[in-house]
Amino acid sequence: MFNLVLDPVPRECPSCATATQRWVQYKYGALRMSRHQVGDHIHHDEFDEGAPGHDRVGVEGLGAPCPNCGHDDDLVYDIVIESDVISSVALTSGEIDYLEQGNAYWVLLPGSQRPT
Ligand SMILES: [Zn+2]
Repeated sequence: MFNLVLDPVPRECPSCATATQRWVQYKYGALRMSRHQVGDHIHHDEFDEGAPGHDRVGVEGLGAPCPNCGHDDDLVYDIVIESDVISSVALTSGEIDYLEQGNAYWVLLPGSQRPT
């Protein structure tokens, strides 16, 4: 399972040229198909992936296909979660290696510390 966060920016579909906000799949926190928006606090009573309270976490997100025509343009996102609040969702810069810390598509970003 996974969660979903809404891309705040409409993205134009290369197939039908319709601009829509896409739902972005990600795996962090309690994986319950929750739908969030930027600024939301994610559930912290239970964590299937990651741990509560990290200062700054980067999570890889996968954009849903175009809701108008179903074309899958394989959008990839960088999601930043700060102290369990989704602080940004943006198309990926491609600069983050989400697997480098041995986690499933999330990393502690520079400046973050593991809770003691
Ligand atoms: Zn489309």
